[in-house]
Amino acid sequence: ERKPAEEYDVIVVGGGPAGATVSAAVAMRGHRVLLVEQHRFPRYQIGESLLPSTVHGVCRILGVEDEVARAGFKLKRGGTFRWGRNRDPWQFSFALSPRLADPTSFAYQVERSRFDAILLDNARRLGVDVREGCRVTTVLADEERVRGVSWTGPDGGTREARARYVVDASGNGSRIHTHVGGKRTYSDFFRNIAVFGYFAGGKRLPAPNDGNIFCAAFDEGWIWYIPLRDDLTSVGAVVSRENAAAIQRDPAAAWRRLIDSCTEVRGFVDGVPQATEAPYDQVRVRRDWSYWKSRLWRPGMVLTGDAACFVDPVLSSGVHLATYGALLAARSINSVLAGTAGTLDEDRCFDEFEARYRHEYGLFYEFLVSFYDMHEDERSYFWKARKVTNVGATELEAFVELVGGLSSGDASLIAPSQAGTRLTAASSALDQAVGRLPDSDGLRNPLFESANIRQVFQEGTVLQERGVFGGPLEDEAPLSPGGLVATEDGLAWADPGSR
Ligand code: FAD
Repeated sequence: ERKPAEEYDVIVVGGGPAGATVSAAVAMRGHRVLLVEQHRFPRYQIGESLLPSTVHGVCRILGVEDEVARAGFKLKRGGTFRWGRNRDPWQFSFALSPRLADPTSFAYQVERSRFDAILLDNARRLGVDVREGCRVTTVLADEERVRGVSWTGPDGGTREARARYVVDASGNGSRIHTHVGGKRTYSDFFRNIAVFGYFAGGKRLPAPNDGNIFCAAFDEGWIWYIPLRDDLTSVGAVVSRENAAAIQRDPAAAWRRLIDSCTEVRGFVDGVPQATEAPYDQVRVRRDWSYWKSRLWRPGMVLTGDAACFVDPVLSSGVHLATYGALLAARSINSVLAGTAGTLDEDRCFDEFEARYRHEYGLFYEFLVSFYDMHEDERSYFWKARKVTNVGATELEAFVELVGGLSSGDASLIAPSQAGTRLTAASSALDQAVGRLPDSDGLRNPLFESANIRQVFQEGTVLQERGVFGGPLEDEAPLSPGGLVATEDGLAWADPGSR
């Protein structure tokens, strides 16, 4: 049975962090939003280690920071890595200066089922019409633009909803992203497989770093160790996809075997039982997560979160990119819907969204390639294959497409051959910054002396400042000449030229 179409300003597909963020930020400007989510929350998701920009930036802008703080998630001050030339573990702290008390220099390790439900409930409170247990099946479009979606409700009936904008925030399993920019481009470099599960406890690093994510490189890849609660630890191994068949045959056995081959993590969980509470009683597998799109919007439709792109789990960038991209999309939607646009027409607003989103993705992409390059192990197939010198021509071209010219406004300025040099330089800068860590004088965080690292965290820092102080500390500069900047509340675009 088909019901008559309902009318909204915006329809959001998916209620994860990306969908909850974009819908809330649009509803905050008074627009009518429908959010369709196929599951009933709480639902399981991987991606438990957050960055400060999400917690203090996006959550504060959406008015949900205090609730997240009260939820009792494990405080994460940074990361501890057994990675690189240094045989001993090294720490990375979110504090720009280790001596100064900075109220935003931490994030959380979250049970995603609870964190995502908090964000989605917040969207509902802000007026978003949230329909759980409902699935979007079709995108309605004509030659000019996307106009709405068809979705099925819990009763199995099909409905139509129409809106000025459809946002695809339906994650890596999106079936509708092809309506924008065609197929995904998969990265060769990050073509790995992860197998992950949970322990009912496990050793903790000494305080105050007991909430840090711990990542250990080992012969076959690397392992994450994330303390979620005193009695719950998330442990996942990332290895070459050549292992896929063995892992898929028996994920639990493969997971155990990989943990056993990583000295540090094996010691942390020695004698600790595997978790038996749902949803943590299963060992799960994910692969082929690293991809992007040639376009992130078209008239009437925009992609954000994993529906648009994802790099790699190693530096916990997924939820940051998802919520940051969602905020950028909301700014563009709010600016166009405000109708006061003047010079801020649809093209200009959404090109700004796309340029900033690709820029941020490109920064993390470059950083993570160099992060892998940092680790040397001549005997290991995994680590030998993840050297910058092995990055293929198509990968370099794709990288150029991502970052090329975005800062200069001219894509011809960076060629694939230069991209290789650039990645090598980034890797050696990172290596040097990490090498200086033990000599740190306690006043400066030597990691932030590397321009590469500073740049990666720059947009996150602006978001944090916006959350804490109501706006960036310095006048925000447009990303490129003639570009737009965020309004004071962070929810729309302004033209710095017309100030
Ligand atoms: P999701 O969280 O996937 O939400 C999408 C929602 O859309 C889902 O709830 C789904 O049910 C719904 N949906 C799908 N299709 C439909 C439909 N047709 N109709 C209605 N609803 C639909 N990120 C981090 O920040 N930290 C980490 O430590 C981290 N570790 C990771 C480890 C691995 C192995 C992998 C693969 C990823 C990791 N990530 C991590 C990335 C993180 O999981 C994602 O980036 C993040 O969940 C993206 O959020 P999202 O809102 O875009 O998508």
